[in-house]
Amino acid sequence: MMLGLLLARVGVEVIVLEKHKDFLRDFRGDTIHPSTLELMHELGLLEEFLSRPHQQLRQIQAHFGSEKTTIADFSHLPTHCKFIAFMPQWDFLNFISEHAHRYASFSLRMEAAVNDLLFENERVIGVRAATPQGILEVRTDLVVGADGRSSTVRELAGLEVVDLGAPIDVLWFGLSKRDGDPEQSFGYVGAGQFMVLLARGAYWQCGYVIRKGGFDETRERGLEKLRAHISRCVPFLNNRVEELKDWESVKLLTVKVDRLRQWCREGLLCIGDSAHAMSPVGGVGINLAIQDAVATANILGQALREGRVELNDVRAVQHRREWPAHLTQRVQIFMHEHFLERIFQATEPMAPPLPAQLLEKFAVLRRIPARMIGIGFRPEHVMPAK
Ligand SMILES: Cc1cc2nc3c(=O)[nH]c(=O)nc-3n(C[C@H](O)[C@H](O)[C@H](O)COP(=O)(O)OP(=O)(O)OC[C@H]3O[C@@H](n4cnc5c(N)ncnc54)[C@H](O)[C@@H]3O)c2cc1C
Repeated sequence: MMLGLLLARVGVEVIVLEKHKDFLRDFRGDTIHPSTLELMHELGLLEEFLSRPHQQLRQIQAHFGSEKTTIADFSHLPTHCKFIAFMPQWDFLNFISEHAHRYASFSLRMEAAVNDLLFENERVIGVRAATPQGILEVRTDLVVGADGRSSTVRELAGLEVVDLGAPIDVLWFGLSKRDGDPEQSFGYVGAGQFMVLLARGAYWQCGYVIRKGGFDETRERGLEKLRAHISRCVPFLNNRVEELKDWESVKLLTVKVDRLRQWCREGLLCIGDSAHAMSPVGGVGINLAIQDAVATANILGQALREGRVELNDVRAVQHRREWPAHLTQRVQIFMHEHFLERIFQATEPMAPPLPAQLLEKFAVLRRIPARMIGIGFRPEHVMPAK
């Protein structure tokens, strides 16, 4: 959607195909990072964006049992917004879509599920998508697969996926927010447990981390046990865990960390999770996908407008965005192996590990994770429209 907006803005004809009929799904996180907010500023949309309902998180805190530590502090970032904005992703996508529709060259087709690629010799020249009205064929100079961690496009294109392994899955559910709750929360570490709470207006969006493949076992142990685990990890939720009435209210989100060896072939490019599926650790995947979109528009905008996109142009996108994505994945994998694994093995509530203690003690150090999470490696900037 972001790439659609950016390309339409520089006069490229673009059609975005989305397989669902709306953006009302809750499994993709809600974080809009300072670097993305900076892009909103560069696009002249920041003020309007901030007038939409959202919450602002200026520091990230983790609770280790009864101890609270501050992990990141965004107040020193060199950006207009020194906070992460929390906005449900459907509101964010609707916002981007509204602005993209101001350009005559933009169109969005909902309920269009891409299920085939069109080839001419070895070059991809378009897609075929299933819609309620029948098959839709779109012929184009460039197909961009931005279809997430279970990308159909990358599979149809035969691009080789390197699986980096993710030892976790996430149980995703909502619990009501009540008077006296903390304003904004983040990570809670219990004995062998890790849970994240995202404030979404009237309710908490909860992510309860389990070992990969552990969902069947969790179900076998029963809902009562899960409720007890949640109460133990985040005690203030104790008086509402009964809201989890059945397993329908608990969704399993499968976490993947992988990357494509080649993000492109002639006529086709993958970006975002489709090129490099991100773990939820650090909540940076949305941001990274958006940074890919900006780089793609910057590198390919003119060539697309002139209808002459060569494989080398498309490769330049991978060349620019590959290392920030890989480095971020490395950090996530390090956190899986050294932080989450320790949590899973703990039988007693864990004391803050040394890095967390140092961050608590020396406020200046909190600028490092703030920069990595809030801006990331190699931030992109929107080029002025000619
Ligand atoms: C449990 C969990 C929590 C997370 N929390 C956060 C967080 O808080 N913050 C954060 O930054 N990141 C988070 N992430 C990572 C983040 O969700 C992804 O990195 C990010 O959404 C990638 O964006 P994307 O646009 O590449 O793909 P997606 O956001 O997955 O979007 C892909 C889109 O393509 C559509 N689509 C798929 N297939 C087709 C098809 N065949 N035809 C047409 N359309 C199709 C989908 O419906 C979807 O709208 C989380 C990940 C997980 C697993």
